[in-house]
Amino acid sequence: MSATPHHVEVPVSGMDCAGCARTVQQAISAVPGVSSAEVLLTAEKAIVDLDDTAHIEQIHRAIEAAGYGVPETDPRPTDREDDVTDDSADDVSRQILRLFGSIFAAVLVVVVAGEVLGLLDWLVDAVPWYVGALAVAGLGYPVFKQVVRSTLRGHIIAHTLMAVGAGAALIAGQWVTALIVVFFMRMGDYAERFTTEQTRESVRSLTRMAPQTARVVWEDEERTVAVDEVEPDDIVVVRPGERIPVDGIVVAGHATVDQSAITGESMPVEAVPGRKVFAATIAGGGSLRVRSTAAGRDSTFGRVIEMVQQAERHRGAVQRYADRFSTYYLPVVAAIAGATYLFGGGLMATVAVLVVACSCAFALATPAAILASVGAAAKQGLLIKGGKYVEALSRADVVLVDKTGTLTLGRPEIREVTTLNGFSEDELIRLGASAERYSEHPLADAVRRLAADRGIELAEPEDFHAVPGAGVHARVNGMDVRVGSERVAGVAAAAASTLELATRTGTRLYIDVDGQAGGVLSAADADREEVPVALDALRQMGIEHIELLTGDRQDVAAELASRLGITFKAELLPEDKIEIVRHYQGHGHTVVMIGDGVNDAPALAQADVGIAMSRGTDVATESAHVALMRDDWSLVPSLFRIARRTMGVVRLNIGFTAAYNVVGLALAAFGFLPPIYAAAAQSLPDIGIMANSARLIRQDDGRSRSHAPVT
Ligand code: ADP
Ligand code: MG
Repeated sequence: MSATPHHVEVPVSGMDCAGCARTVQQAISAVPGVSSAEVLLTAEKAIVDLDDTAHIEQIHRAIEAAGYGVPETDPRPTDREDDVTDDSADDVSRQILRLFGSIFAAVLVVVVAGEVLGLLDWLVDAVPWYVGALAVAGLGYPVFKQVVRSTLRGHIIAHTLMAVGAGAALIAGQWVTALIVVFFMRMGDYAERFTTEQTRESVRSLTRMAPQTARVVWEDEERTVAVDEVEPDDIVVVRPGERIPVDGIVVAGHATVDQSAITGESMPVEAVPGRKVFAATIAGGGSLRVRSTAAGRDSTFGRVIEMVQQAERHRGAVQRYADRFSTYYLPVVAAIAGATYLFGGGLMATVAVLVVACSCAFALATPAAILASVGAAAKQGLLIKGGKYVEALSRADVVLVDKTGTLTLGRPEIREVTTLNGFSEDELIRLGASAERYSEHPLADAVRRLAADRGIELAEPEDFHAVPGAGVHARVNGMDVRVGSERVAGVAAAAASTLELATRTGTRLYIDVDGQAGGVLSAADADREEVPVALDALRQMGIEHIELLTGDRQDVAAELASRLGITFKAELLPEDKIEIVRHYQGHGHTVVMIGDGVNDAPALAQADVGIAMSRGTDVATESAHVALMRDDWSLVPSLFRIARRTMGVVRLNIGFTAAYNVVGLALAAFGFLPPIYAAAAQSLPDIGIMANSARLIRQDDGRSRSHAPVT
């Protein structure tokens, strides 16, 4: 059998905590033929790299042997009315949080009071030891089972040390202590399960917005089919008030569409024939016929969900650090416990050490916060493709911005036509527009529009070549036509330098025809109005270094840059843009690049965080790490704000847990902390982190919106 590598996705059920994900990951990696496995806790699946020698059944068996399940199929989200469930899910989680707090407080009061009044000692005397032992075994069964399983596989988990502590207390006759330790272990488990569930819920509330069925017109009849069965070019009927089931082009009808599911913006847009509409947006006030271009997982919304689910894959340095930390941490705790016992600290102090420091909090601190904010950001119209970009954004200090289509609207218009060498205006435009016929560039669009306005018929270009950041060349009616900057049309550029052109600023498209200067088209593009305010917001966050990178001429760039109060570099090729990103990175900066075009794609990918504008080219959106889902620059400062707030929470989580554990360990080792208090104390960080991360899930960047509630 050949060993062709490929990868499969396997759904996994029953994982509650980061430790579970690690267990499953190790189990799958041990299967022969598997080269690597990644387990996504929130998406509840494993992504496995394997070759032909590996059997999928073996992977299933490995997962099951590790104590987890493999659901038959992807659990399909039910088509519930999301706005209602969103709110109630929110309520439920708040209620659980409150319930949690009360149980915790009640037990704490009883334990402290019992200890102070000597009731616990009385209880130990009054109730036979074996009854207490049975209670411990009963309450602790799920955690003991987990501990035994991982011990058999040679892994030590946080619960292992606590279980040893509980066992020691039991043997010393302190069954009440053991029982309380076990109780708080279970509490910790619930805390973690709850946090995981809540993060999953924020992804699921997105999934729930995905349409499940579509009404397809087939031989003049309407048929309801699953969205996955809709083929490109199928005609889909959308009734007023319904979610549009597919991405497509409106062919008939009129409606106002609420696109908040995709863009986070609830201002409706008009849908008329010819307009593009997106799956999961809501058509109001009329019905539509839509010719499908993409459905299900291939639709824009499907890809959003996919990316949010996968955000867990790109772990940041902070999280890797935390993972590694917890690996070394447990042996250290075990050593301190050993030392406490050996140096006469007594059995109870040893038990306290084992119990106090072993919470799941470290494992919980980062993923909970980052996933929560990726989900919340998606609902605002910001698609963040991985946790590590949140981290990078929070410490970014250099922001590089493209000009055309990014700082400007990218709808340039040709304002002036200058002909040379006896070409007529119409002939020049015909040649230029024909050469530009298949270019995706906004300037090409401007030339084509000008030709259309003048009723000029285009010829079919041959040997079409686009030179990103410079222009195009092609053969038109056997002539070699070159359109663009002086890099592609140097002859016309040289000829024009001796001319007095009426528009001094503005982008120039030089046109060479068969090595002769044909003429110059001057284009002007409107600025985006939200840019100055957005740039100010960035400066207020302490990001001083903002620089314009453009392929356009020096004077055009200088004029715009001075108006925006930023520095600039002009006449750049795509390679130059990527070099500039590398240059800053080499000097220790964390670089954010914002762009839209084919010529920006390499720089977007190279940057620590590449941000693609919403109407950018596909290759820019693919190369970037964050995609804006709405054409609005104010999303950029929002993005920075979300990232900073998230990392603030993460740091608080980790710092708090670390400080807490150090103090707890010291108190326990020197006998100042009875095991009972130690048990109660260890579950506090879990609760704190839960509350802290729940705060992020609800983050709304201070701007209130009427639709798409943020869970
Ligand atoms: P920016 O970096 O500002 O987004 P580009 O790099 O896309 O701008 O383009 C830089 C310059 O290259 C433009 O100002 C224009 O002169 C020229 N150019 C690029 N593509 C084309 C094209 N398709 N047609 C004409 N000119 C082009
Ligand atoms: Mg551009």
